[in-house]
Formats: sequence, C-alpha cells, structure tokens
Amino acid sequence: MKKLLPTSTSGSLPKPSWLAQPETLWSPWKPAGDDLADAKRDALRLCLDDQLRAGIDIVSDGEQTRQHFVTTFIEHLNGVDFEKRETVRIRNRYDASVPSVVGEVSRTKPVFVDDAKFLRQLTTQPIKWALPGPMTMIDTLHDGHYKSREKLAWEFAKILNQEAKELEAAGVDIIQFDEPAFNVFFDEVNDWGIAALERAIEGLQCETAVHICYGYGIKANTDWKKTLGSEWRQYEEIFPRLQRSNIDIVSLECQNSRVPMELIELIRGKKVMVGAIDVATNTVETPEQVAETLRKALQFVDADKLYPCTNCGMTPLSRQVARGKLDALSAGADIVRRELLGQ
Ligand SMILES: [Zn+2]
Repeated sequence: MKKLLPTSTSGSLPKPSWLAQPETLWSPWKPAGDDLADAKRDALRLCLDDQLRAGIDIVSDGEQTRQHFVTTFIEHLNGVDFEKRETVRIRNRYDASVPSVVGEVSRTKPVFVDDAKFLRQLTTQPIKWALPGPMTMIDTLHDGHYKSREKLAWEFAKILNQEAKELEAAGVDIIQFDEPAFNVFFDEVNDWGIAALERAIEGLQCETAVHICYGYGIKANTDWKKTLGSEWRQYEEIFPRLQRSNIDIVSLECQNSRVPMELIELIRGKKVMVGAIDVATNTVETPEQVAETLRKALQFVDADKLYPCTNCGMTPLSRQVARGKLDALSAGADIVRRELLGQ
C-alpha cells in the first residue's frame, strides 16, 4: 500500500436480515438452494459497497458466505464428522458442541476461491482474505484420530497453504490467519503454533497477516476479559517469537482494551493492524477517539507500517452500528494521516 495509514477491518461484517438472523453467531441461513448461493453473493456486493462508501482502503468479503469463521472452512474438509459431536472447552473459556476428527483430514476442493474471484472482479482496491489459523481450528474440534494437537495443527497448516496459494492466484493481496487461540495457549504457540502458521504461508508471494484478539463481543469473552486484571499482557508471551517469524502483518486489539500499547515495541519491524474500533459495544467511536488510539500506537509502530483496523470481526453488531464504526475508522485515520503529512 502506498497510501499512508490504509484502513481495513479484521474480518466479518454483519449480514443482511434476509440472509441470516442478525446479531447472532452461527446464525442459520434463511434462503435455501440456488437462492442461497445468489443471496450470499448479493450480500457480498452490499458489504463491499458499505466498505467502499466508508472509504475503507483494504476491503474484504466481510465473511458474508460463511456461517462462522472457523466452522465453515472445516465443513469443506474430509476427515471431520459433523454428525458426531462432542463437547469441548473452547480457548479454555466456554463449552461448545463441536464436530469430531474421525480420519485423515484433507481438502478435496477449494473452499473460498470462487468467492475471492467474485470479489476480485468487483473492485480494484486491495483485498484481504481471512482464514482460520491452524491452532484456532484444532481448538474448535474434538480430535478422535490424531490424538495430538500439534500433529492435527500441522495437517491443517498444509491444507491452509493449498487454499492460500489458490486465493493468491485469484488476486488476493493479503491473506490473514485468525488466531485468537494465540492469546491463550502461550507455550504451545511458542513450541509449534507459530511454526504451523509459517507452514501455512510457505511459498506465498502476497502479504500475510495474523489476527490475534480477545474475541467477538459475546458474553463468554466479555466475562473472560473481566478476569484478566488491569493490564492485559498476553501478547508479551508470544511477540518475541512472532517478531522472528515470516509473517508480514500482525493484527491486534487496541481500542478500549487494557493491552499496554508499549508491548507493540516487541514486534518492531512488522506491519501492525491496530484495532481502533471496539467490537464489543454498540457505541460508535468518534473519529477523535480513533485518532487518539492511532497516535498512541505511532509511538511504537513506524507510520508506514501502521494499518488502522477494527479490534475483531463485527458480525454480532447491527449493520447500522457497523456502518457507523466503518465511517469512524476512516475519519479517525484521516485525522492522523493529515497530521503526519502536515496538512
Ligand atoms: Zn478477532
């Protein structure tokens, strides 16, 4: 990106109410059959339109064709039985009924590549595409086959690499891996989590990002955040290893979070997507609040490496609130951009 402070969102955006029940995770689709395929693409176009009207620089599909950022990808793979469900604890935080790995996992066909081609033909703006990271994938499953988190993560990394290479060929500019699990399992992240991520990006020429957050603004996450104390230093555990990794961009939660901003110094040299929009509140930030967060981050990120972003995905919010937040992000970034350029 040549533009200073290019804006983007970290992933999902709300779906229209005719596609799926709003403000709900894992919301079931309303249309069926061919109507559903059409409806998903219509939603993708509208979602792109919202981003472009708000002046977002690096656009995405807003995950309009996925029910969930992890599950939808896994549904397309072999070796996972969605009928055989087991209850597991996700990110050490809440119990959920999840599918089981029952055999060798593999990808027999592309998952999001057609959607990416569709988005590519709609816009000349840079495109970012989010995929679940290997560690977050294994944390959303019951493993009855490999019996090893590391081994299963490695298999998923190889599958993600196949998908990523085809997304790159489809014209995606930045491929992002969502790894909220990186904020929980520090020893595993350092032992093999980041290595698995590097396996997933092997051979890619486009830019790569990892998104590490404190999750959607759902109750299980907001309750967990209350237990984390006055300073959130989780990033400190993994940043030194991440700084030495091949990942180009690190996407972080910074707005209304208790993460000490100086921790970003530990990944100096990386591009940083600074979350300047809180996704856990319906209150729309003022442009000045966004600008203030970006100014704080600028103490620890070189201006040409700072990418203003949202804390996390916005799928649990209303479309109206999400649009307001996109506008605020754009306007806030513009304030700081002008300051930097002396305008
Ligand atoms: Zn997130």
